[in-house]
Amino acid sequence: MPIAREMTAMKGKRDRAYVSKSSTQKNDYLQRAIPQPAEPIFELAAAYEADKNPKKVNVSIGAYRDDVGKSWVLPSVREAKIQLHSDPFFGHEYLPIAGLKSFTDAALKLALGTDDPTLVGAVQTISGTGAIRIGGEYLFKVAPRATVYLPSPTWTNHYDIFTDIGLSVKYYRYYAEGTCGLDFDGMYQDIKDAEEGSIILLHACAHNPTGVDPTIDQWEKVLHVIQSRKHFPFFDMAYQGFASGIPEKDAFAVRRAFSLKIPLFVAQSFAKNFGLYGERVGALCFADTQIMKLKSHICSIVRAHFSCGPAYGARIVAKVLNDDNLHLRWEQDIATMSSRILKMRQTLFDHLLRLETPGDWSHIKKQIGMFSYTGLSTSICTKLVKDCSVYLPLSGRISVAGLNDSNVAYFAECVDRLVREEQNPSRKRTRL
Ligand code: PMP
Repeated sequence: MPIAREMTAMKGKRDRAYVSKSSTQKNDYLQRAIPQPAEPIFELAAAYEADKNPKKVNVSIGAYRDDVGKSWVLPSVREAKIQLHSDPFFGHEYLPIAGLKSFTDAALKLALGTDDPTLVGAVQTISGTGAIRIGGEYLFKVAPRATVYLPSPTWTNHYDIFTDIGLSVKYYRYYAEGTCGLDFDGMYQDIKDAEEGSIILLHACAHNPTGVDPTIDQWEKVLHVIQSRKHFPFFDMAYQGFASGIPEKDAFAVRRAFSLKIPLFVAQSFAKNFGLYGERVGALCFADTQIMKLKSHICSIVRAHFSCGPAYGARIVAKVLNDDNLHLRWEQDIATMSSRILKMRQTLFDHLLRLETPGDWSHIKKQIGMFSYTGLSTSICTKLVKDCSVYLPLSGRISVAGLNDSNVAYFAECVDRLVREEQNPSRKRTRL
């Protein structure tokens, strides 16, 4: 490594190098590993799989399930795959570093409403996670001392990604426990008070984990304070279409920021809205004045990370979005998924009302997207897993998509029993 580069690497905050105290051999690199805590969400998924209880319910993982609890291949995606496979020249060449152009252009139009190369650009990434990583890497390179502000709470990987890169992370207020809604005043104030030029991570729609989004009015205020404080909005758009059922509508905040000419990043994931979880389809979209220069810098980061993105999923998304009939079909698929989730919110609420479960459960209906922050205590969540085979994280977040007509009543009964038990601990416990 040239000395200058080596020095920079050593100085960077990302430098996590350590030397094991017990190290005796110079080449014992593989023995210096430090076991890391398991990811609770993946642990829950494994425990659910191993559980023999026929009544078990999995509301932990953020993946869509149909009304019989099965994963769903979207009909628009199924059709696109048939068309792709019927092409005798369907090959397996590398994509360019920036990715499949027909995909990135379509991704830009979906997010920002335009693919005008003088205004916007995009590079293909390893799904939404990869888009956040590549965007974060770029920001660290050009502004190593910048602070990223995350909503409190947020998807836990946001913290992991940005701190792993070496950026400083702080939180802005977001969720109000008392109302199970948005702490708008806190959010606004914290963004306003953040040092000028901060990076503000915003969930474009269907906030994970809370299911709480700002209203249009609130977005206007947030975007204006971002603009006046010269902050940089980094949108994470992992659920476009899941909030309202209409992809354009869910892009409101992103498009409004763009129309205000605020330079921005959008990390786009096609995992949920195309059901292409394992294909790792994503894009990092950007809007500013010097797109070519920016794109060239970001491409060099992509090259150093994974050279170029995977082709298959990008081809599927490009096929669907660029074909009028398939695009229409996809919009219907999105409506199918989002309306089933809405129906489950209503059904769960109705069951809790029927059972007269103590408390106000209206937030279940008010929150949107795939997730609901139920407000259930840690001890209730623990008992739900241990006593009822209802799998959810300790935060009380549920993936509403995991509920269906066959399990929602059982879920509500378990919640009802445990909420009552918590209020009156002497109640006799019966296993449901
Ligand atoms: N952002 C948020 C808020 C998410 O919930 C997720 C998925 N859980 C992602 C980004 C990234 O998803 P993926 O890498 O699968 O596209």
